[in-house]
Amino acid sequence: MAEVSVGRTTQRSAALFERACRTLIDGVASPSRGPLNYHPHPLYMEGGCGGRLRDVDGNDYVDLMLAFGALVHGHAHPRLVEALQRAAERGALTATASEIEIVVAERIASMHPCAERVRFANTGTEACMAALRLVRGYTGRDKIIKFEGHYHGWSDAYSLRSNMPGGDAVDSLGIPAGALADTIVLPWNDVDAVERALDANKGDVAAIVTEPVMANMGVIPPRPGYLQALRELARAAGALFYVDETVTGFRLGPGGACGRFGIEADIVTFGKALGAGFPVAALAGRAEVMEALEHGRVLHYGTQNANPALLAVVDESLRMLDDAAYARLEQLAGRIVSGLREALDGEAIVQSVGPMFQIYFTDAPEITSYRDFGAHVDRDRFNRFVHALFEHGVYTSPSPALHSVLCTAHTDEDVDRVIAAAAASV
Ligand code: PMP
Repeated sequence: MAEVSVGRTTQRSAALFERACRTLIDGVASPSRGPLNYHPHPLYMEGGCGGRLRDVDGNDYVDLMLAFGALVHGHAHPRLVEALQRAAERGALTATASEIEIVVAERIASMHPCAERVRFANTGTEACMAALRLVRGYTGRDKIIKFEGHYHGWSDAYSLRSNMPGGDAVDSLGIPAGALADTIVLPWNDVDAVERALDANKGDVAAIVTEPVMANMGVIPPRPGYLQALRELARAAGALFYVDETVTGFRLGPGGACGRFGIEADIVTFGKALGAGFPVAALAGRAEVMEALEHGRVLHYGTQNANPALLAVVDESLRMLDDAAYARLEQLAGRIVSGLREALDGEAIVQSVGPMFQIYFTDAPEITSYRDFGAHVDRDRFNRFVHALFEHGVYTSPSPALHSVLCTAHTDEDVDRVIAAAAASV
């Protein structure tokens, strides 16, 4: 793609937004892509290539959003395009048993330490909903423990305190109180809070549900030993330990966060990077737990589950995620994080785990919790900073809660451009 442009205009995006608002809610397909975060209008994208994205006015950007982390190999990787073309010739969907679902399930099981059995779904939200029903069905218990600031999709039972601090506790209108009656929300990175809640709800908690890295308030790493402590507390309480790897799976390493931090989950969910840009998600876990899904005892259906055309892409994508690919991601991450820290010194801090990172404009030395985020992060400044990055040819979400990410297609030149753009935008 062409060089990053300067002196850009976004007239076509402006015109499309005006037109879009007549038929689409907020002019977009998901609220975070619209006026909630973008001013005066979102940028309409034509497409991408590798780690770059081009808008409809012909401006190029280094893409750090990568479809909210879905594009582990960037845009239109030639091997994935070819896999999709070949698969499309065999038809879009059979909705029958197919060999490719076995191949991909075997691949997932060989990569992730907790995936003895696999069930495919289509989106992270859907996989998390199925996992919730599974933990309840398997244990015969109703309550779940989740954490403030953690997001597990938009279904009712999880929709408590997932939004940024300061808003309503319930994430949405239209959720009956009963749907949330069994959802216990606790501060994260706090072992005592979990101990107390398990004590107060003895015999009633089906699962502790956690993001392994808090990735929907930027990037907040787990304290050393915290995830292991959750595992042990769950086991002692007869509850399951459910790690939502929608963001971290196939990104923080072949074994996701579980592999990286050496933790043993009963159930995990995947989305985003698993699908390499296509709607493929999965739940996986210990055989004994997953087998509660047999014969639909815990019901989970789906016309599109294990779509063979999309799984052909996933198979190719997972093959490409070898040790060299992860080493490359770590190396790029090391460079971008140290470069950004230097460029933003005194203005912002940068937190990261592997290729996921977040810039926080804050007076605090570190952001360790949802409450820290609420008290110490200058969200408006982040939003303005990202709009300035657009001017300098870098794209990421202007939402201060949504982190940036690198892909295997990014180059050292992309990293240099981001660092220069950040220095010019601050
Ligand atoms: N779980 C986590 C941890 C997520 O970050 C997300 C999406 N941001 C989801 C689940 C939901 O995934 P999807 O958007 O594919 O429904």
